[in-house]
Amino acid sequence: MAIYPYQTNPLTDFSNEDAVKKYQRALEDIRALAGKTYPLIIGGTAIMTEKTMTSVNPANKKEVIGVLSQASIKEADLALEKALETFETWKKTPASVRADVLFKAANIIKRRRFFFNALMTKEAGKPWIEADADTAEAIDFLEYYGRQMLELERIDDKVLSRPDLERNSYTYIPLGVGVIIPPWNFPLAILTGMTSAAVVTGNTVLLKPASTTQVIAYHFVKVMEEAGLPAGVINFVPGKGSEIGEYIINHPKIRFVSFTGSKDVGVHIYERAAIVQKGQIWLKRVIAEMGGKDAIIVDDDADLDLAAESIVKSAFGFSGQKCSACSRAIIHERVYDTIVKKVKGLTEMLKVGNPEDQQTFVGPLNDHGAFKKVTEYIAIGHTEGTLVTGGTFDDSTGYFVKPTVFKDLSHTSRLMQEEIFGPVLALSKVSSFEEALVVANNTEYGLTGAVISNNRMHLEMARADFHVGNLYLNRKCTGALVGYQPFGGFNLSGTDSKAGGPDYLVLHMQGKSVTEQL
Ligand code: NAP
Ligand code: MG
Repeated sequence: MAIYPYQTNPLTDFSNEDAVKKYQRALEDIRALAGKTYPLIIGGTAIMTEKTMTSVNPANKKEVIGVLSQASIKEADLALEKALETFETWKKTPASVRADVLFKAANIIKRRRFFFNALMTKEAGKPWIEADADTAEAIDFLEYYGRQMLELERIDDKVLSRPDLERNSYTYIPLGVGVIIPPWNFPLAILTGMTSAAVVTGNTVLLKPASTTQVIAYHFVKVMEEAGLPAGVINFVPGKGSEIGEYIINHPKIRFVSFTGSKDVGVHIYERAAIVQKGQIWLKRVIAEMGGKDAIIVDDDADLDLAAESIVKSAFGFSGQKCSACSRAIIHERVYDTIVKKVKGLTEMLKVGNPEDQQTFVGPLNDHGAFKKVTEYIAIGHTEGTLVTGGTFDDSTGYFVKPTVFKDLSHTSRLMQEEIFGPVLALSKVSSFEEALVVANNTEYGLTGAVISNNRMHLEMARADFHVGNLYLNRKCTGALVGYQPFGGFNLSGTDSKAGGPDYLVLHMQGKSVTEQL
């Protein structure tokens, strides 16, 4: 089949007036949808429930984005039944047909680019550039995994047969019914990547979106429907993670769990999924991508402007609400004071406010829980280090926290060890590059990291010994691209899976070897 080679979808150029107008119009369109009610979708049927959840704009708590039906155990059981039933036909659907659904979905999202962008600005508080990159990444996942599936079909060519003796075949078959549990922080991209990988490999799923971004998830499910995905392949069962999510992951008919979120929930799911329930005839597979405590090391001979810019962009893009966000800068003592000054200057230039305003760089935090957690860490920062800038917050209209920087943190302080998931950056001093690497590796995580240095030997030391899944040399530590920087972390950052990479789809399948004697 002729298909053009994979390439990433370009970002929107907002210096173009037309693009700005389209974004503003899309924000108006979302406003017009306010208060709309959304059903569950199970086996292709829309189901309204009595129990609902109201999704609000985190920049303006009074603004309702949508009211969503919520699944209870009854609907989860129905979704499981439909997913099991549909698995029997979907698993036999040719891989090329499954891939075509993804290619078509990618095109639908391309056409609806500004709708999804604006929806993310409204429901997730994403500034324009961040929302646009999120939509682009969703398109990339669909384009990339579609092609990967076509590649994997050819695995059979790699197994040998013995002439006059036997013909061997080797194929990947899907696992069964899985549950997809994404986070809210890349409400379209990560959800799209996780879900499309599971279904293009022939599985059927229950999709339980993050509670705060359910409207975005609903519109993704509608795109997949429009792209020709048969009813029952994706069953949309929004609800509280600790209730309905918990019920589903424990169910004996669930074959795999694909989770992206916090370490605590991920570890809990991993433990629970290890228990073989009554009537369960397999070991559940768990793909868990979790948090990080990502560091940027600044060497004594580094380009200091590049260092400061990389730190500030990685720390405060989307208010630090990225698993890849820089939350520690480990700085050589010879350049420490200069970096502190440059970081302070750049941070104070960032525009904080409502992300509907095109100029906003730092929008709100996700919800009250996130606001509370981050402000508690600011209090801890005051006891552990010295405030450089920020430290103020205001939740009167939305969940706003000023980009905050603390300096002089001890390497084992809580600010240097624990994931905060907000705009709080810790700066710490070291006396050598060797020490910097030890500090960088001294947390329970291992997701992303960066080194800013002009010393070739130091860069090579980091390449070998900075133990993170995604290491960046002389650039920021956020912004991995599908197909270019397969993404996922070591240690308690996850199960070593790599989203957007050549090994990811295989995690959703199992190999079957058949030998026919000739
Ligand atoms: P979270 O609180 O762990 O939630 C993630 C998902 O798990 C949500 O859908 C949540 O539902 C659900 N959930 C919660 N408790 C559950 C349970 N007992 N059983 C089943 N599901 C349950 O994480 P988050 O706040 O959404 O996202 C932020 C975290 O994700 C950060 O730690 C970040 O580092 C991590 N993250 C990692 C990556 C990566 O690729 N490694 C990427 C993005 C984010 P509710 O929303 O209903 O609670
Ligand atoms: Mg949460």
